Amino acid sequence: MQASTVSSPNYASAVILLRQNTDPGDPEVFLVRRSEKLAFLGGFSAFPGGQLDTSDAEVHVSNSVDAESGAAISCAARELFEELGVLVARGAESLTKGQRVSLRDDLESGRMAWPELLRHYSLRLDGDEFTFVGRWVTPAFSARRFDTWFFLVNCPPKQEPNVIPGELSSGGWIAAGRAHEQWRRSEILAVPPTLHALKTIAEGLTPDLVERFLAIPQAHREPVRRIEFRPNYICFPVRTPTKPPATHTNCYLIYNSQEILVIDPGSPYEEEQQALSSAVDDLVREGRTVRDVILTHMHPDHVGGVNSLREHLDGRVKVAAHRFTAESLSDPIRVDRLIEDGDIIELSGSPRIALRAMHTPGHARGHLCFYEEQTGTLISGDNIVGLGSVLIDPPEGNMRDYLDSLRRMRALPNLSVIFGGHGPAIANPYSRLDEYISHRLEREQSILKAVKEGARTSQEIVARVYTDVSPKAHAMAERAVLAHLEKLEADGHDFSDQEGWHAR
Ligand SMILES: [Zn+2]
Repeated sequence: MQASTVSSPNYASAVILLRQNTDPGDPEVFLVRRSEKLAFLGGFSAFPGGQLDTSDAEVHVSNSVDAESGAAISCAARELFEELGVLVARGAESLTKGQRVSLRDDLESGRMAWPELLRHYSLRLDGDEFTFVGRWVTPAFSARRFDTWFFLVNCPPKQEPNVIPGELSSGGWIAAGRAHEQWRRSEILAVPPTLHALKTIAEGLTPDLVERFLAIPQAHREPVRRIEFRPNYICFPVRTPTKPPATHTNCYLIYNSQEILVIDPGSPYEEEQQALSSAVDDLVREGRTVRDVILTHMHPDHVGGVNSLREHLDGRVKVAAHRFTAESLSDPIRVDRLIEDGDIIELSGSPRIALRAMHTPGHARGHLCFYEEQTGTLISGDNIVGLGSVLIDPPEGNMRDYLDSLRRMRALPNLSVIFGGHGPAIANPYSRLDEYISHRLEREQSILKAVKEGARTSQEIVARVYTDVSPKAHAMAERAVLAHLEKLEADGHDFSDQEGWHAR
C-alpha cells in the first residue's frame, strides 16, 4: 500500500510518427499496441514513447527552446529508436540498416548509453525535426502518472519502423482517420491525447495543424476530466474519501443520442459534485435526458454524490440499485427502483446500448456489475478495479461469493474492456480476471498452510502470509483472513480442533 497522496507525474515523451509520401488528406501514423502484460494501460493503442531518463538531459539538442524541451526531445528520439528502431538524428542517414540494428541492440542491452551512442557515431539531435504538439498530464485517478510531451516527427525515408515484441505487442501504419474510426466502432481503446491526435491529423496536414493540436487546454497540462476510453462511455473520476492508493472513484456517464445513465456519483465534496453536474449538463444541453442514476453498491465512496445530483436535476431522476443496496442505504439515500440479476437496461435512441445487470456479491452483498454484450464492455464496480486491491470485509464481504462472482465475469463470452470503480480502464480483461482469481486462491492456500503449521490468531496468520503487505495494512488484511477462513469453513474445512481462534 502506498500513501494516499496523489502522486506527482513523471516526465515522459511520446512520438506521433508520420509516414512520408502518403496522401496529405489522409495521413498515416504509426500506432502501437501496448502489451497486455503492462500494468499501465496494457492492451491500449498508443504512440511510442516512455519516461524521461536522467541521461536524456546530457544530450545537446540544437534548435530547442530550452534545456527542458531539449531533454524531452532527447527522450522522444531515444524512445522512438528503442521501441521502433527509427533513428531521427542528423548523421543517421549515413548509417546502414545493419548498423542501426546493432546500435539499437547496444542501447537496449545497456552496452552503450544514449548520449555516448550519439557521440560515438557523430549523431546530432535537431529540435526542428520534432514538432511540439502538446503536453498532457495523466489524471489523478491513476497511480502512475505522466507529464507527457507529444512530438510530431516525420519518419525518415528508407527507415521502416519495426516493433520487437516486449513492452509493445504490435504496431503498424494506419490512416489517422481509420484509427479514429476503429475507436468509434469500439475496436480499440485509447487515452484522450491519442484520440485527440488521431482526430486532429485525420482532418489533414493543413498549415494550421499545430494550432489545432494546441487549441484545447488539456494540451497545455490542464487536467482531463472527461475520459472517453470508449465512445458513449465517459469515465469521470471524482475525488472521494476512498481506500488508498486510490484517491478517486470513477463515475460513469453512459449516453447515446437520447439518454444518459449515471453510475456511482460518489463524491461528497461540493467542488467535485459541481464538476460532475456540469458534465451531465453538457450532455443534457445536447438534447438528452438523464434516465437513471445507478449504484453498483452501497459504499460511501460510490454514493456520496447521489443526493446532490438528484437535487441538481430538480429531483426528476430515479435512483436504481440492488435490493440489498437499497436496504442498507434506506435512510440517507432513497432508492426508487430495484435492479435484479438479469435485468436489461436499454437506452432509448442510438446507438443501441443495452446493459445486462449481474448480481455479483462478494465485495458487498448487493453489488451489481453491468455488461454490454455488443461491445464487450463490463462496468465492474469494486469487484475489479484499475488501481489498488479489493477488500473483502465480512459480513458485508464474502469470499466465496466473491470468487463465484469473479468466475461469472470470467465466463462472459466477448469481454473487451473492464471499467472499474477506481483507476484506468482495463483493456486485458481476461488476464486481469485470471490474476484476481489465482491471487485469491494462492492466498487461501497460504492461509490453510499457516493454520496447519499452528498459526492461532488472525494476527499470526497475517504475519505469516501477508509478508508482501506493509504493517499499516495489517488490520485490513485480518479482515481478508477472516473472509478466507469463512470460505474455507463453508467449503467443508473443519477447524474445530484448532484452538485459540475461530472464523467468526
Ligand atoms: Zn466498495
